[in-house]
Amino acid sequence: MNEIMAMLTPKTVDLAGGGKGSGEVTPQMVAAVIHDLKPDVQRYAFLKYSLDESVKGVLFDNCYLDTVNIALKGGWKLKGDEDAGTLSILSDMVLEESINPSICSVCNGAGMVNNKGSCGVCGGSGRGTGISVRKTAKRLKVSKHRADHFWMDKVRLLMGRYIEWEHDIDSALKRLTRTG
Ligand SMILES: [Zn+2]
Repeated sequence: MNEIMAMLTPKTVDLAGGGKGSGEVTPQMVAAVIHDLKPDVQRYAFLKYSLDESVKGVLFDNCYLDTVNIALKGGWKLKGDEDAGTLSILSDMVLEESINPSICSVCNGAGMVNNKGSCGVCGGSGRGTGISVRKTAKRLKVSKHRADHFWMDKVRLLMGRYIEWEHDIDSALKRLTRTG
């Protein structure tokens, strides 16, 4: 997380605009530096940094179609009741976790526990456990064995895609610090 990312929260971004204060990051400024990225990556950035919620429907639809294509190209062998609906839930689940990562339930995302130092559960990262085998099994309505031996691999694959997107966004946003 760089400083620009930290500034891109609903609390610090003045969506009403018109602010003359220096160091303020506006959606327009972000749009100006990320406009070379793929449209879905731009939508992802707007949604992740709470700049524009209206892109959500299109982004989730497009990511679902991508997931179907990835599944077809990868020759995923669906079993039993698994179908396009399962892929849809998988796609939404990974995208939601990527945009809005779960936080550690012990330290509430702070990484510290009551001035006792680093949180032992998350190792001070403040991050939650992400998408577990149990969560995957429950959401996709499959057995834990099936989740563990088939679906977790797909979760990691899709997750990796959004990590790449975030790197692209991060590089683009670094230009704000340089020009700002
Ligand atoms: Zn913690």
